[in-house]
Amino acid sequence: MPDKDRTSGYFRPDLEIMDAQARQAYLDRKVADTVAHAYAHAPAFARKMASVGALPGDITKVADLARLPITEKGELTEMQQKGLPFGGLNGEPLESLSRIYVSPGPIYEPGERVFDDDRWAQAFYAAGFRRGDIAQVTFNFNMVPFAFWLDASLNMVGCVSVPMGVGNTDVQIQTLKDLKVQGYLGTPSFLATIADKAESLGLDLKKDLNLRVGFVAAEMLPESLRASLQERLGMVIRQSYGTADVGCLSYECAHMNGMHFAQDCVVEVVDPQTGQPVGENEPGEVVATIFNKAYPLIRFGTGDLSAYSNAACACGRTSPKLTRIMGRVDQVTKVKGMFVHPSGVQQVAQKFPEVMAYQLVVNRQGHNDVMTLVCELKDAPADLSELKCSMEMAMKEVLRVSGEVEFQQPGQLPQGCKVIDDRRVWK
Ligand SMILES: [Zn+2]
Repeated sequence: MPDKDRTSGYFRPDLEIMDAQARQAYLDRKVADTVAHAYAHAPAFARKMASVGALPGDITKVADLARLPITEKGELTEMQQKGLPFGGLNGEPLESLSRIYVSPGPIYEPGERVFDDDRWAQAFYAAGFRRGDIAQVTFNFNMVPFAFWLDASLNMVGCVSVPMGVGNTDVQIQTLKDLKVQGYLGTPSFLATIADKAESLGLDLKKDLNLRVGFVAAEMLPESLRASLQERLGMVIRQSYGTADVGCLSYECAHMNGMHFAQDCVVEVVDPQTGQPVGENEPGEVVATIFNKAYPLIRFGTGDLSAYSNAACACGRTSPKLTRIMGRVDQVTKVKGMFVHPSGVQQVAQKFPEVMAYQLVVNRQGHNDVMTLVCELKDAPADLSELKCSMEMAMKEVLRVSGEVEFQQPGQLPQGCKVIDDRRVWK
């Protein structure tokens, strides 16, 4: 049998390759519908809308969403405790649900009876999962919805799911081998554990296993780990971005270089302080609106920091891409009007192998923010001023804010110190 074509085509061509205008009109309609439904059936959202004096007739397109407050994850538990189980967040009565999921918090999540959300299926197809693939799901099936979503979504693509859950590495390996499993769904670190264990059992990862495509989530995927897994197992590894509350928000295609917005939801990137959408390539919080009538989360703040790009992609998908997840909003600091995140500082420091320890200190001089990257070096280089100069250039390039680099004797920065020390005092 010829190898499957795992790089071309789309799961939802009607949505994935539509032009920008048609997409806008489609999403505007869905937003108007979802808001009207949530207002009528989910009292917690009706109250949110009332708090800003908005009526369903005011929110008829994507751009109108900016009028509504953002609901942060931390609020959900509190809202629910005021009226268990769902605190008025559910958009359908209890008897029409299939499940109640229990997420950490606790947050009780209504599970719709008919799961027709195909955003994960879009992601799987883009990753290279194809009809007839056997796919092993190694995420946890207890309490939380994620693994159930993946299982149902594999079925939408025409794959056969093996619901393994977490752990049991030996049984996982035996199953991969016996069933000639082509697809893996799980964390990248667990896939590495499986590969190590299989090798220690004397298996040839490429000959004895038949893995072709992996979908990894729930952990950061360093490119070095991706490369090593792809090479060792002879498979393709793709990732997506989403949360346990709002599902899949974006996913990689064969060309990678960011993650396409999933279709059939609204992804906004907003200024965490004002809640207003930011422009292309500007960092901000990812905020999602999903069209789930049983659990209509409208302007849900993920707490994750990212940016989007409208650049065209060779895969043909026309949706914007999230460029990368930069960290959590609660760790971000605004310096000279720009968001600076610990991961950005780390990125600067990692460009210079001489740097052993570092901390970004933010101060205020008069009415100006001053940013100093304090560094301790392994060995003093021949030309300290040259290193200082190139590090300052890297700061400007990566953080998009200029600052100064200062060297000090090793051992003064405590181990595990904060990456950003914001010393500004606001009076
Ligand atoms: Zn693409």
